[in-house]
Amino acid sequence: MEKDPSELVLAGELDSYPGDPNLDVCPTRAVVWNRDGTAVAITDNCIGCGLCVARCPYGAIHLAGGEIARVETADPDRLVTRGRTEGAHPEPTRTGALAALDAPAATELPAAVSTLQDARAALLVRNLLHEVGVNARVRRRGDTNMRIDAVGQSRNGRPFVAEIELTPAVLESPRALLEDVAVLHSRYGFSVTDIDPLSVVLVLPNVRSEYYRVIRDIERVLNVRCRTITLGALVALLWTGTRLDGFQNAAFAVGDSGVDLEAGLGIPRALLREPYAGAFRPAG
Ligand code: SF4
Repeated sequence: MEKDPSELVLAGELDSYPGDPNLDVCPTRAVVWNRDGTAVAITDNCIGCGLCVARCPYGAIHLAGGEIARVETADPDRLVTRGRTEGAHPEPTRTGALAALDAPAATELPAAVSTLQDARAALLVRNLLHEVGVNARVRRRGDTNMRIDAVGQSRNGRPFVAEIELTPAVLESPRALLEDVAVLHSRYGFSVTDIDPLSVVLVLPNVRSEYYRVIRDIERVLNVRCRTITLGALVALLWTGTRLDGFQNAAFAVGDSGVDLEAGLGIPRALLREPYAGAFRPAG
């Protein structure tokens, strides 16, 4: 499964950002073609993110047991929707969530992500951002001239810079974001106040963590408000079919008024069971 190259295009000056041109939909390349022309998801490689399920134009992939992708080649439940003409991609008639937010795949996501190479983890984040409505491009690995992990535009038209930190060492993330904002301002011509800096983290740090103090200090002294979102929150948005307008306003501005992503996600509270500790609010 591949993206269309047009999905990686950014508007205006941002399009000169040297991003990873990889078009893979699946961050682990788990969906492959058999010799007989049928597709299959390799169980051992699947981390259960649900990206292929959301993207399959025929609605023929589902998360079996809320855990791993399965391609229905036999179509026993008549899931497959055929196009009017050969090669046409119809809209799948899928309704409801891809899986419950506390499904096994969500619970096991941190362990699964820790096995991914950096470039693959970055593709996972990029593709999740795309599917929740945010245009993003991630850094080409090995490019020593660019340090920003990701740039993009939200649906509200605002540019953002992102640091992707999927290990417990998140403290450097806000500081790196300051550098990213400076680069976007000086090289791409955006006003500092128009840029949304975003940390994409695996888990929200403990409430007493220095992370929030650094974010607060940056906002007080420099009037730059860093935002935070977890990988689990992005997966929750994908699985529930929720779209983000962007990272402006107080949503995802963890720190001053609390450290809870619930309000920013736009997902019904009843669905927001914690898939793994620290996905929506700090653990412990
Ligand atoms: S659920 Fe995610 S990891 Fe598994 S096959 Fe689909 S896209 Fe790949």
